Amino acid sequence: MDIFSKIAAGEIPSYKCAENEEFYAFLDINPLVKGHTLCIPRREVDYIFDMEDDEIARFQVFAKKVAIAIKAAFPCIKVGEAVLGLEVPHAHIHLVPMQSENDLNFRNEKKSFSAEEMQATAAAIFSEFQKL
Ligand code: 5GP
Repeated sequence: MDIFSKIAAGEIPSYKCAENEEFYAFLDINPLVKGHTLCIPRREVDYIFDMEDDEIARFQVFAKKVAIAIKAAFPCIKVGEAVLGLEVPHAHIHLVPMQSENDLNFRNEKKSFSAEEMQATAAAIFSEFQKL
């Protein structure tokens, strides 16, 4: 099992932001900004564009809901979305609350938050997701 599958299965701890039977969302461990969240399919697939049309459509709808929850929890101009996948070979969508274009620059130094802050951030997003 790859590392993100283990996270979705609860075998490796993560700061859970949202989930359903097919997808899981959790905080990026090295965030660009507070609220930087990853959405993944529970199913093991590396390259997002290998997903079938209906699966990637459901994945995007899930990410949309997570983005709405992030914006409700952490007011921002917009939540940006990015797909890289060069580090972890399990499809994932980055969702990043943006106050400016620079917040979505992956060359920026990553932020560091305490475990308590990460827990509170995830809980705030999770709470908003439950309202949708
Ligand atoms: P990418 O594959 O899109 O280039 O980058 C993978 C992202 O996953 C990075 O932003 C990295 O910080 C994050 N990441 C890698 N390993 C872990 C992990 O074990 N837990 C969490 N929460 N995030 C991770």
